[in-house]
Amino acid sequence: MKNRRSKQRKRAMKKRKGKRQRQNEGEIISPLIKKYWIQRYNLFSRFDEGIKMDEEGWYSVTPEEIAMMHAERCIDGVAGAATCVIDCFTGVGGNAIQFATQYHFVVAIDVDPQKVKMAYNNARIYGVEDYIDFIVGDFFHLAPSLKGEIVFLSPPWGGPSYKTIENFTMDLLKPKDGYSIFQVAQTISPHIIMFLPRNVDLHQVEELSWLSSPPLNFEIEENYVENNLKGVTVYFGGLACKQVKWS
Ligand code: ADP
Repeated sequence: MKNRRSKQRKRAMKKRKGKRQRQNEGEIISPLIKKYWIQRYNLFSRFDEGIKMDEEGWYSVTPEEIAMMHAERCIDGVAGAATCVIDCFTGVGGNAIQFATQYHFVVAIDVDPQKVKMAYNNARIYGVEDYIDFIVGDFFHLAPSLKGEIVFLSPPWGGPSYKTIENFTMDLLKPKDGYSIFQVAQTISPHIIMFLPRNVDLHQVEELSWLSSPPLNFEIEENYVENNLKGVTVYFGGLACKQVKWS
């Protein structure tokens, strides 16, 4: 009898705990980001230590593994040891953190003060906040005063609906089209990394290299996480290993 009661009590406790957990998750997870929650450690391996993200951050932050590859590409640098990377649309800081982890100095820019706050919080969790200069501002206004060896561009892709488009063209990038963004970036440095949707129009990527005279070298890399194609990275200038030609 006693045994059965204690089993019932344990079952009731388990049920209450499960309900509490679901309620806690419910506070964090809105229906839109529910599908991204399962990928949280792919986005930030130290997620449980207090990483902060808003709804946009959930679907737009670069997965950590990919951000690490971007940062590793810059290790040899293009201008010696002291590399400064300008992260022009930093969001919640996924890329800035990995650049700083690889001993680069980073200027992290975002027009949204809340994003910059979250990026600072997240950089502190990774212990790299002292290597990042956080700036709240519009990249296009700030560009004439920015100095750095490498420009990193992960401009907004227009939300999760980009996946439904067959051929993602440069005019779909925000807040300006891809050609305009690239042209401004080039005024800072020819060594540019651009992180783009997996369905990006590759002929238009080649056109970006023609905006410079002589045309910039470029290299295209497909980025997978757990066998899923998450995006395409284009390395320009001294960061490209080889020039890719499209017929
Ligand atoms: P992606 O889908 O490529 O990851 P996001 O949707 O995260 O892009 O957008 C990146 C960030 O760019 C957002 O945090 C947004 O606030 C920021 N942003 C948008 N316009 C500007 C701008 N003109 N200057 C700087 N940051 C901007």
